[in-house]
Amino acid sequence: FITVKNLHKDFKIGKNSISILKGINLSIEQGEMVALLGPSGSGKSTFLNVLGGLVPPTSGEVIIKDYRISDMTENELCLFRREHLGFIFQSYNLISTMNAIENVALALTFAGVKKEIRLKRAKEALEIVGLVDRMEHKPSELSGGQQQRVSIARALVNHPEIILADEPTGNLDSKTSSDIMEMITKLNREEKQTFVIVTHDPEAAKYCTKVIHMRDGLIERWEDQR
Ligand code: ATP
Ligand code: MG
Repeated sequence: FITVKNLHKDFKIGKNSISILKGINLSIEQGEMVALLGPSGSGKSTFLNVLGGLVPPTSGEVIIKDYRISDMTENELCLFRREHLGFIFQSYNLISTMNAIENVALALTFAGVKKEIRLKRAKEALEIVGLVDRMEHKPSELSGGQQQRVSIARALVNHPEIILADEPTGNLDSKTSSDIMEMITKLNREEKQTFVIVTHDPEAAKYCTKVIHMRDGLIERWEDQR
């Protein structure tokens, strides 16, 4: 479903080039819920961003459902992301001047969906995360956990098959974190969505079917928890 072959990523800093991903090989099946663990600076976010087509690899391949995304142009990647992927970020990345439902509906603007339909689908996504009663609140009028739930609703609104999450519980207390992980687990079971979740939190990793440990740009080992 997702195949990564000998993936390398170097960053250029001035005249120097530093190697951050050093040959990652991985395959993920549809419906898996994968945790990506590893020390700070080991390349987890870089890997997730390359996987989602947000950052181009230096060499190697990323193949998602027969699409070789490592070879796509920026335009093709944009379309691919809109159709197949959802992103959840640690810092939520919500637009502060828009309320919850507008933030979620925004993810559909580019899909050419009519406004009423966008709002209807945004409301349905907010229902899934249990936030319909806060849909007119702006981000500053929501708690951190609620903002993260809005950002999850935004990731869900186009019904992507794959959701990539970078520390979705990173800023939350342990109760809110477990609520979020339970919600993700439920989506994974009921909607068969595939999740790749970067996390520092061993408790969050317990919910996943596979735990991948990264170190210094490589996969050190992995565990099957099914
Ligand atoms: P954390 O757990 O702290 O989020 P991480 O495993 O997600 O860490 P990355 O964000 O992938 O780590 O960063 C890995 C390394 O790549 C770091 O040393 C960082 O400085 C470097 N790096 C990341 N992005 C860039 C960039 N755009 N340009 C140059 N170096 C970068
Ligand atoms: Mg990171």
